[in-house]
Amino acid sequence: MLVAGARVAGGACAEVLLDRGAAVTVYDRDDSERLRALAARGARTATGEFDPALLDGVGQVVLSPGFPPHHPIAAAAREAGIETFSEPELAWRLREPGAARWLAVTGTNGKTTTTTMLAAMLAAGGLRTAALGNIGVPLVQAANGPYDAIAVELSSYQLHWSSQLAPTAGAVLNLAPDHLDWHGGFDNYAEAKAAVWRGGRAVVNLDDPAVVALAKHTEAEVTGFTLNHPEPGQFGVALGFLVDHTGDAPVQICSAGDVRPAGWHNVANALAAAALARAAGVAHEDIAAAIRAYTPEPHRNVTVGEWAGVTWVDDSKATNPHAAAAALAAYDSIVWVAGGQLKGVDVDGLVAQYAPKMRAAVLIGQDRAEIAEALARHAPDLPVAVLDGGDDAVMTDVAARAAAFARPGDTVLLSPAAASYDMFRSYAHRGDAFADAARALGGDA
Ligand code: ADP
Repeated sequence: MLVAGARVAGGACAEVLLDRGAAVTVYDRDDSERLRALAARGARTATGEFDPALLDGVGQVVLSPGFPPHHPIAAAAREAGIETFSEPELAWRLREPGAARWLAVTGTNGKTTTTTMLAAMLAAGGLRTAALGNIGVPLVQAANGPYDAIAVELSSYQLHWSSQLAPTAGAVLNLAPDHLDWHGGFDNYAEAKAAVWRGGRAVVNLDDPAVVALAKHTEAEVTGFTLNHPEPGQFGVALGFLVDHTGDAPVQICSAGDVRPAGWHNVANALAAAALARAAGVAHEDIAAAIRAYTPEPHRNVTVGEWAGVTWVDDSKATNPHAAAAALAAYDSIVWVAGGQLKGVDVDGLVAQYAPKMRAAVLIGQDRAEIAEALARHAPDLPVAVLDGGDDAVMTDVAARAAAFARPGDTVLLSPAAASYDMFRSYAHRGDAFADAARALGGDA
């Protein structure tokens, strides 16, 4: 077996395969300590430009997320008729008898929030569980652990390279343009996500036309969720309460005001998690208890502090316009901090819709000019600072410029609509740099 990539996903696959005595070749463009450690354990390793001869005699290829369908390895494997799959697909194939049921979550945004809510619900229901997958510990290392049911976050990359993986139930939260470079277009991206329904039970966001369109082609049994009044067979919201109307009579779960972080998009996430938890047999009161006790994940609409009447919010995890829209909708009079890598996604619609709520904007990162041009088109009078810094030190300038723009009652919102890798190690690094700079300015540091 060939494993492409020797970082989190690939490294874990190689280790598990070596544990099982398989002959493993690991390819990574770059040498690393992990790769050398795998070589010391008996893996054949290769670095540098990919050499197609590496596929000689190989029956299957495990591809890490860094390998898109147009990568030479994927293309060469396709041509040679060699099966390719992702780390979760390998984990699925290596499940042992009695292993945990999988309850899976995918979508453009809200995956981590929904997956951690779901794990909390499963735990509240007395099930042995963990939140796994795209979220942290690779499935291949943990899916055979001592669990009854696991909450599995799956990305479009992981689902693209899957063919057998079939969760007990799977939710598609929403679909908006993201990762288009990788998938080569929106249809391919959406299609990849539908694989989460392969197990036969589909949890479907009825308020998202792209998800509804995708669900038209599924053979799975559909449970819909909506922020509107639920019809029989659906989860929804009635009189401010989350309601399960899949049984004979509607059941109130809890108040929408109990959901944290606040915001209607998180109510939708909670409904999706509730539908999955019900598929695992969790009682409504346990679902409600988990929602009330839920602690939000960092960097997702988190208030960093309030100084001189201005609230500073870190939503660094908003790495695409759809996620930024959820945050921009939640505040008024915003000093918007944005920019980074747009990954081929258009920001024009986002800017057109939310520029009227902005006091000013501070732009950073590789694609800052594209955002500045959109702002100039839709809000030519909006004050905009475009900063050139190429590393995390730029956040000190960002905070100073944002503070100068802001008036009491405003929100300075880091919701970048773009990935962070051009300037930061990760969205978390970006959010921490923003929060540190805000605190330093506010006098708390
Ligand atoms: P993911 O794991 O899919 O990236 P997260 O839960 O980490 O999702 O949230 C990512 C970003 O998307 C955050 O900025 C968050 O505020 C926003 N978000 C969360 N849920 C939704 C949703 N249902 N629709 C739109 N945006 C959302």
